[in-house]
Amino acid sequence: MELIDIGCNLTHDAFDQDREAVLERARDAGVVQCIVTGASEDGSRKAQELALSRPGTLFATAGVHPHHAAQFNDASEALLRELILREGVVAVGETGLDYFRDFSPRDAQRDVFQRQLEIGIDSGLPMFLHMRDAHGDFHAILREARDRLSDVVVHCFTGSRDELHDYLDLDCHIGITGWICDERRGTHMKDYLGDIPANRLLVETDAPYLKPRNLRPRVKTHRNEPQWLGWIVGTLAAARGEHPSAVAECTTDNARRFFRIPGASRAHPR
Ligand SMILES: [Zn+2]
Repeated sequence: MELIDIGCNLTHDAFDQDREAVLERARDAGVVQCIVTGASEDGSRKAQELALSRPGTLFATAGVHPHHAAQFNDASEALLRELILREGVVAVGETGLDYFRDFSPRDAQRDVFQRQLEIGIDSGLPMFLHMRDAHGDFHAILREARDRLSDVVVHCFTGSRDELHDYLDLDCHIGITGWICDERRGTHMKDYLGDIPANRLLVETDAPYLKPRNLRPRVKTHRNEPQWLGWIVGTLAAARGEHPSAVAECTTDNARRFFRIPGASRAHPR
């Protein structure tokens, strides 16, 4: 089974002590490639450097998360436009709207989201998007730009059935995390995970966040790792009434097509 983690915050300082071991455990668990999320100027720079250190295995996105929208300026945009030309950068984002935390004013979030959509339009690169508690504005902004964009993924989707269908109608891909493995808040999604067409489905850990709560045996740490992506695939497959290997195969194919990346090399460079 080959899996691709399409959203992994591997530059997070939670991994500073043992990043190599984390990657090794991921590979041993069948996670053969990861897309490292760039969510700030510094984080996007680091994601690109990390991708460059493991060509063919790690890839990066370049973007600024809505949490940091208040600090976004012309230099930020110039940096992102430069980063996306560098080797290993395969998508624009993480960008979008987050009205749950509201760490940046909403008008700044909307402006910075639109500016990054323009980078996607100009570059033709796929978009890695974040939406939390902001469906109305997010959907309106995305719909307006959608025809001019290439592929789009709404990552870490946690919304309602109606929201899901709004994004499917815009021909978005849907990124599924360990949220669905959380009996306290992900159960409602199980009724409509089967609505997602197989060719629009992507899987991600969002590590170090959102450790799957159904991990067995239990592990003490709160930190999530890409090695546990298989638990998300298993939960997703059960909700869809499909075999885990079928979900693994289609999500891996989708990830390679979406991010335009080659198959994993068989070699195990240590
Ligand atoms: Zn996100």
